[in-house]
Amino acid sequence: MEPFTNDRLQLPRNMIENSMFEEEPDVVDLAKEPCLHPLEPDEVEYEPRGSRLLVRGLGEHELDEDEEDYESSAKLLGMSFMNRSSGLRNSAAGYRQNSDGTCPAPSARTIGVCVCIILLAVAIILAIYFLPRCTFTKEGCHKNNRPTEPIQPIATNGKLFPWAQIRLPTAVTPVRYDLTLHPNLTSMTFRGSVTISLQALQATWNIILHSTGHNISRVTFMTAVSSQEKEVDVLEYPLHEQIAIVAPETLLEGHNYTLKIEYSANISSSYYGFYGISYRDESNEKKYFAATQFEPLAARSAFPCFDEPAFKATFVIRIKRDEQYTALSNMPKKSSVVLEDGLVQDEFFESVKMSTYLVAFIVGEMKNLSQDVNGTLVSIYAVPEKIGQVQHALETTVKLLDFYQSYFEIQYPLKKLDLVAIPDFEAGAMENWGLLTFREETLLYDANTSSVADRKLVTKVIAHELAHQWFGNLVTMQWWNDVWLNEGFATFMEYFSLEKIFGELSSYEDFLDARFKTMKKDSLNSSHPISSSSVESSEQIEEMFDSLSYFKGASLLLMLKTYLSEDIFQHAIILYLHNHSYTSIHSDDLWDSFNEFTNKTLDVKKMMRTWTLQKGFPLVTVQRKGKQILVQQERFCLNVKPEIQPSDASSLWHIPLSYITDGKNYSKHRSVSLLDKKSERHVFFFHRQRVYGTLLTWSRWVVGSRRAGVINLTEEVQWIKVNTNMTGYYIVHYADDNWEALIKQLKINPYVLSDKDRANLINNIFELAGLGKVSLQRAFDLIDYLRNETYTAPISEALFQTELIYNLLDKLGHVDLASRLVNKVFKLLQSQIQQQTWTDEGTPSTRELRSVLLDFACAHRLENCSAAALKLFFDWMASNGTQSLPTDVMTTVFKAGAKTEGGWSFLLSKYVSLGSEAEKNKILEALASSEDVRKLYWLMKKSLDGDLIRTQKLSFIIRTVARHFPGHLLAWDFVKENWSKLVQKFHLGSYTIQSIVAGSTHLFATKAHLSEVQAFFENQSEATFRLRCVQEALEVIQLNMQWVEKNLKTLTYWL
Ligand SMILES: [Zn+2]
Repeated sequence: MEPFTNDRLQLPRNMIENSMFEEEPDVVDLAKEPCLHPLEPDEVEYEPRGSRLLVRGLGEHELDEDEEDYESSAKLLGMSFMNRSSGLRNSAAGYRQNSDGTCPAPSARTIGVCVCIILLAVAIILAIYFLPRCTFTKEGCHKNNRPTEPIQPIATNGKLFPWAQIRLPTAVTPVRYDLTLHPNLTSMTFRGSVTISLQALQATWNIILHSTGHNISRVTFMTAVSSQEKEVDVLEYPLHEQIAIVAPETLLEGHNYTLKIEYSANISSSYYGFYGISYRDESNEKKYFAATQFEPLAARSAFPCFDEPAFKATFVIRIKRDEQYTALSNMPKKSSVVLEDGLVQDEFFESVKMSTYLVAFIVGEMKNLSQDVNGTLVSIYAVPEKIGQVQHALETTVKLLDFYQSYFEIQYPLKKLDLVAIPDFEAGAMENWGLLTFREETLLYDANTSSVADRKLVTKVIAHELAHQWFGNLVTMQWWNDVWLNEGFATFMEYFSLEKIFGELSSYEDFLDARFKTMKKDSLNSSHPISSSSVESSEQIEEMFDSLSYFKGASLLLMLKTYLSEDIFQHAIILYLHNHSYTSIHSDDLWDSFNEFTNKTLDVKKMMRTWTLQKGFPLVTVQRKGKQILVQQERFCLNVKPEIQPSDASSLWHIPLSYITDGKNYSKHRSVSLLDKKSERHVFFFHRQRVYGTLLTWSRWVVGSRRAGVINLTEEVQWIKVNTNMTGYYIVHYADDNWEALIKQLKINPYVLSDKDRANLINNIFELAGLGKVSLQRAFDLIDYLRNETYTAPISEALFQTELIYNLLDKLGHVDLASRLVNKVFKLLQSQIQQQTWTDEGTPSTRELRSVLLDFACAHRLENCSAAALKLFFDWMASNGTQSLPTDVMTTVFKAGAKTEGGWSFLLSKYVSLGSEAEKNKILEALASSEDVRKLYWLMKKSLDGDLIRTQKLSFIIRTVARHFPGHLLAWDFVKENWSKLVQKFHLGSYTIQSIVAGSTHLFATKAHLSEVQAFFENQSEATFRLRCVQEALEVIQLNMQWVEKNLKTLTYWL
């Protein structure tokens, strides 16, 4: 699934122990020095504890952690394990032996006491192990069961419900579903019948499966040997959305059975499940449309099923429809039959084996454009009046399908691939196998009104959903705790495929920007590991769909690919896909495939677990000492209570370091691998050639009582820049002299460093200023070189960072200071702004730069920008909107017009009547940027109603309103006032709710707002207050307060 939103995030910090540079005055103890950064918002947040990943051996061969790290380091370094430090060996030996090296002989009494204790302990363990798991089941205990809840579930009919857990038992597994549905789009109801072929994996009496919102009229049961149907009772337990069928006889292990359930239900009025919408066509006639969105937990609301991703089965689907509609499902249509009542019944071929959340069907009036690609019919569907906007999507899909089939060396397995633009859709898109669903704005492209950013969006979203056909559909995560396996991979492949086949779009700039934003969010204490063990409730599952699963997952894969080389990375994932096709897997299965390929010369699992099982990321501190470079790591974490060290202060990562220097011999990428330890900070390095291999140097630097890692250069250098092209997921801090050297280099000739490196330096220094590691003044000193910058990525990042500060000052009423800040930034970028023209000329990257610069200039009324924009707007208005405008600056032009009374009304009239979603989006952003709060309130209200402005746009409107001064308090009031409706429409924990909470609170920076936000969510439910997005919002407000407290005086003096 592709969420829809792209905003900004926030952060706190923490830090761990020692600095290795005791004499280094620049290293700040974060436990004392509050950190700071103004935070912008965007989505989500979370939770707990990183875990230590080392697997311990037993007995004589057990290693302590030091030894294990040494062993793996040695393996990594290609060294013999026997050559490790003798000092270490001695200390490990001392741990287990007497001083003479022998084990003492125990007395008989000691042995007796020990035996008693052991027997008692075993009895307690057995009791704990068996009792709770068997309490409510007739089947006995299943290996994978979770602990039972301390309540006795009672079904709706008052009888005991035979299963107490949220996860289903594994005694019975579905093999095939045969589903017939008859939706009525005017009454918004449907009737359904599902026949499920089952296999018993264990003897049991009960069949437990999911079902919610169904009025079940009849359930019958049949064994494979007797074809006689027996009507059976059904028990319902709505709290867990489960039903239980008590079989008339024991289900025997290995035997097959059939269950048939007839039911009726309402078509959903939310965006979840089997949902219905109405829209008006170009002649203003009301039309109806029904579609599905099952991920993650809504297949159960469309038909009774085993609704967990690991229960894969095949599906035969039949849809009864009125003649004027088209029905689509995952598979090609097998037959269409006209029934006696005039309805048409479409039957689709039996599907491949797949998870329930990937099942999909659509009924509506649509047209399509198709093309055959080596036996697969690719079709783009839209409502009839928008069929003219599908050509770009078709061409893009054909190229991407070809690329993926070749890259993965696995053919797309279905005979057809449909991509459908749905008139109202909450997410960005969804990867249902063979039937991809999209918002209209993420699939349709209109050459006259779509900007280069729109083109990129459509291309990226198609690339993402197509990648899911392999990552997610063919190979699926076992459970939602590993959703990053789906989303991280699809996101990574989205950028990777664009870079390969649409290189002109410079999508690397977007990926870089996404990594910056993701790390901002991941540095919060409310962050969470992307592979989390504590995911069970629907809210917890929803919350896993956040930007960390998507972008941190993708960032880690980028880091691994860069480290291993593109070739090895590709072959390892081919192996993974081949090994696990049509099954479901854990994260470790992915790493095992890498390890299988690397043949144990590198333990990818051990390395990558340090990134996926703990939250946050490392701060790497670098100091030059002549030809030696000292390096250490600690967690980069903002912290609202600096006096409290986080419990995982000793977090460690296996970091593939890379660097470049100004030296003659170091101008190319040099990769280094670093391993660290909790206690003594042993750091190992080796240069990497091609893969993960050749040891060039390994040494330690002893500073005081601690040891640090060292890179030995062959010559002295002026500067070193670590994390080349920011392919690594970490932030780098340098000693004073190196920062100064880098700043000097940027001023003399910035192009010695790549645009990615320049953007990376800007990002890092502002984030470090937030942490209190460097002064804000030094950060501004670094971006002083921007006068000579011509690339998009560094300018965009500088504008983002300074806008964060501006927004905070502005919302707190420090108008003069905010204005001085804008002037300072403007002076840096003045010549670039003056060079811009109001056209669509240039490469995609320069066109995007134009959008960013002119939007900045017009927003702050600089360089007569608004006058130029207004002239274009009034010309366009005089032509009744028929005169074409340059697409990349269209939003800026509309924003200028929306600030005028007549302009706003004219734009609204166009919004209602236009057919291009790309143009409508630009208008909507302009409408929501108005300075008239009555208009802003009206917009939000109308979007909640969903008629004039679709409710799918509401979170975007709220975020836009909240960003600007006139609306930032209003947006929060609106959220409070309509919270229950918002949760009903978008459901608790969803990406949309995350986005609304962050978007409406992220610019608060006062104690009064903190108390208010806290009190509001506390007064909702406990589940609401516990939401990570709520905890993140509170954390961000506190960090904003700290930032202001720390920096306001300095800024007043210095700006
Ligand atoms: Zn996705």
